[in-house]
Amino acid sequence: MDGERKLLEEGALEIGVPVNQQQADMFIEYLKLINIWNQRINLTAITNEREIIIKHFLDSLTCAATGYVRNGDKAVDVGTGAGFPGIPLKIIFPGMELTLVDALKKRIIFLEEVISRLELEDVQPLHARAEDLGTQEGYREAYQVCFSRAVSHLPELCEFCLPFLKEGGFFLAQKGPGYREELKEAGKAIDILGGEIWDIKEYALPGTDIVHYVLVIKKIKATPSKYPRKAGKAKKKPIK
Ligand code: SAM
Repeated sequence: MDGERKLLEEGALEIGVPVNQQQADMFIEYLKLINIWNQRINLTAITNEREIIIKHFLDSLTCAATGYVRNGDKAVDVGTGAGFPGIPLKIIFPGMELTLVDALKKRIIFLEEVISRLELEDVQPLHARAEDLGTQEGYREAYQVCFSRAVSHLPELCEFCLPFLKEGGFFLAQKGPGYREELKEAGKAIDILGGEIWDIKEYALPGTDIVHYVLVIKKIKATPSKYPRKAGKAKKKPIK
């Protein structure tokens, strides 16, 4: 694992989010758990260790580099899957209070194991659909920051994510180069749901020619109570 560790440490430095020894140990343990569980359940399509480090770990850390996520924040990761970007961010910001949401039970069971093995505190893995959770007291307008990667198209994703945020909070959407088109399509949804485009950050993934973006949307007013609509509706009839 020495090569993997070096790749992680150097890559994290390059992104601007240095990892200490203890954090590097936690990433390596997480990598081992992903490898083991990927043989049992469909956790992630990427199985090569170097690729997991670059395309999952370092890519997740770009959210930390934006400056919009801070230690001590109450945060929610919507559609976290195998824990991205939530778990890498929690390793970097141990004081973060984190909710991990996914609609697939087996991924939540994996995350329970990760939380226990990495001895992470204040992390709640939840088997739920974002649309259902976003209407519930204790979750609705309860978070300073929400992040989400590779879950859905931006208009729909905003309906999943913006209801979780308090006014003044930030939604970080990790996107590829097609983000401009998505942003155009999502303009009305962002406005109706109480958001405003605040910032766009660009990151080159170390050791690759991949460029990814973090779209930062600020919650500037409360989300109308009719949103999020019932499960499936945002996808079928996105706000336009
Ligand atoms: N964010 C992770 C990543 O970047 O590797 C996982 C991405 S995976 C392509 C999409 C995940 O979103 C799946 O695990 C899926 O179960 C979850 N998902 C999709 N729609 C959802 C919803 N409405 N509520 C909660 N989770 C959802």
